[in-house]
Amino acid sequence: MPAPSLPHPTAPSSFPTLLSPLDLGRFTVPNRIVMGSMHVGLEDRAADVPKLAAYLAERARGGAGLIVTGGFSPDRTGRLTPRGAQADAGTLRRHRVITREVHDAQGRIILQLLHAGRYAVQPLAASARSGTSPLSPFRARRLTRRGVERTVDHFAAASRRAIEAGYDGVEIMGSEGYLLNQFLAPATNSRRDRWGRDAEGRRALPLAVAAAVRAAIGEEALLSYRISLLDLVPQGQTWEETTALATGLVERGVDVLSTGIGWHEARVPTIVTSVPRAAFAAQTAALREVVDVPVIASNRIHDPAVAEQVLAAGQADLISMARPLLADPHLPAKLADGRSAQVVACIACNQACLDRVFDGERASCLVNPRAGHETELVLKPVIPRRARRVAVVGAGPAGLEAALAAAERGHIVTLFEAGGEIGGQLRLAARIPGKEDYAQALQSWRMRLAAAGVGIRLDHRPSPEDLQAFHDVIVATGVVPREIELPAEGGPAVISYADLLEGRAQAGERVAIIGAGGIGVDVAEYLTAPRPSPALDVAAWRRHWGVVPPDPEHRGGLSARPEEAPRREVHLLQRKETRIGAGLGRTTGWVHRAELRHAGVIQHRGVTYRHLDEEGLHLLEDGQETVLAVDTVVVCAGQVSENSLADQVRAARTGRAPRVHVIGGAHVAAELDAERAIRQAVEVAAGL
Ligand code: NAP
Ligand code: SF4
Repeated sequence: MPAPSLPHPTAPSSFPTLLSPLDLGRFTVPNRIVMGSMHVGLEDRAADVPKLAAYLAERARGGAGLIVTGGFSPDRTGRLTPRGAQADAGTLRRHRVITREVHDAQGRIILQLLHAGRYAVQPLAASARSGTSPLSPFRARRLTRRGVERTVDHFAAASRRAIEAGYDGVEIMGSEGYLLNQFLAPATNSRRDRWGRDAEGRRALPLAVAAAVRAAIGEEALLSYRISLLDLVPQGQTWEETTALATGLVERGVDVLSTGIGWHEARVPTIVTSVPRAAFAAQTAALREVVDVPVIASNRIHDPAVAEQVLAAGQADLISMARPLLADPHLPAKLADGRSAQVVACIACNQACLDRVFDGERASCLVNPRAGHETELVLKPVIPRRARRVAVVGAGPAGLEAALAAAERGHIVTLFEAGGEIGGQLRLAARIPGKEDYAQALQSWRMRLAAAGVGIRLDHRPSPEDLQAFHDVIVATGVVPREIELPAEGGPAVISYADLLEGRAQAGERVAIIGAGGIGVDVAEYLTAPRPSPALDVAAWRRHWGVVPPDPEHRGGLSARPEEAPRREVHLLQRKETRIGAGLGRTTGWVHRAELRHAGVIQHRGVTYRHLDEEGLHLLEDGQETVLAVDTVVVCAGQVSENSLADQVRAARTGRAPRVHVIGGAHVAAELDAERAIRQAVEVAAGL
């Protein structure tokens, strides 16, 4: 399987393939952009159906060619949680409002049927065999032969109800390690009956489900099947097994194959920002060679330019964009009317979407706080004579978004930035290997601010007196790195993370990092990650993570990760006793911890810092005095708010005082959090 690297693209001016219609057999979609299935936490409760309808209809209005809902279980056994979404009669009656709103917006929508199997976090969990999974404390029971047959019937009945509710079709979730995927892999199916025994037996359930669903939904409706191309778990499927499944599915009436990569328990990242763009498109292309139905590529194809390249290269027929359409519901429409540079770029951080959902909360989006809150967080336009003069001071994420949201409402906005570039802490984050895409978010803000008519004054610190001329002053002056008191008699150079990442200071060969929060971990990766960054090179990334074409020797597409010579000696330290990186994101933290281990970063917790001298950094660790013979200490000890301007503006009042709003890190530096900062910015702008 070839693994070509797609270059980091510059946005093309047009997207001829991406925006071309495609006949899917049952109906024609106007473009190749599929909003892939993603649970957003509005699926489970009847009271949330109107919000879910508003969320989905917004994506239809924005031009998505086809929308796939989050996963709904065909029966109680397959629910993800005790009260999780189920495609029962009552739920689907309520869904008529969803299908009506999407159709009114000229969209097409299909319902995804997802049986969680051993991933179900509820006591009725059932799978091919009994046992637990890393995702659930509940032990799944083994489905009896009759139980398997009933499951097939439940899929059929649920899909019939979906069509009655007005859906244009159904997607069967067969990847990501859910029930059907569990039946397919020797890792989780050791049955001796006709639903196991050998590869043919293991694929009997998915094929039976596909046939039953096709019979249930009739000839008009679309049938999509989400197929696992790479399981990325030991004892996953071989490529021959995957292609045999694919051809069998098509024979049973599947119209479209949507490709999924990696089980949820896989220890290879598949969607985080450090995964290269279109990292798995070559695998999709290989599938496309063996079936004659359209194939949907997914995973890290968030940039329309990359999507166009994948389609133009014949690697896929459609592109699944789930998180990108969370970030920008109008992405397709913007491409169509020449505003591609203004697409709000998803940075694959998972912070406000998947991390929230896995915590049982409603998803939103770090760069688009309105996502999932369409009916609650509304930016009403102001009439010109009510437009206010607004100064935003500080062009970090909070300031950028506040300026943009205020200007888009019709206010007259000036954005001041003391430095020569926009971006604040996000600009520093973009320098971390694996976070290169953060720069794209900044470029998107730049273009949207220009389009919204925001005046940007770089290298400019407005005086409190200057700011009296505005109706509103939004103080988004951010944070400064916390300095620590550490007695020193010579010894290692002490530098801040900001100086290191800005290039104002260099690290030596032996480095101690003080503070192991998000930024300490980032800095450890910055100092140890291979160069060039594997995130920019698909082949290098595959080698780095041990991803290989699946064959009988490498079931699931996994081989051992190769040893890589450490670039330098790095110690990562914290005073707490907790596991290093414990506070990182739920879906991303494990990737960072794996990278630290792989790079040989030496972790110290529960330490007390003593002093620095010619020997290095003196510590108390496990009750013992010890010294780390390092030449550089990088301080990553959090931040403190920089908001003195707010009081100065209030004190400088001469006549009618401007209203002063303090947002983002300037408001609260603790757990400095771009998601909170951006949401706060939009809320303040909505209230102007
Ligand atoms: P942080 O998460 O608050 O971590 C700073 C660490 O420094 C603390 O965990 C603390 O650990 C240590 N510390 C604090 N005061 C200290 C002192 N006086 N002396 C020595 N050590 C001290 O802050 P951050 O790492 O700067 O990250 C800020 C925020 O950025 C995070 O909350 C996160 O939201 C975000 N972020 C996330 C990621 C990610 O998820 N990958 C990456 C970057 C940033 P001890 O007290 O235990 O020593
Ligand atoms: Fe993308 Fe992050 Fe928004 Fe999720 S929260 S859609 S990953 S930008």
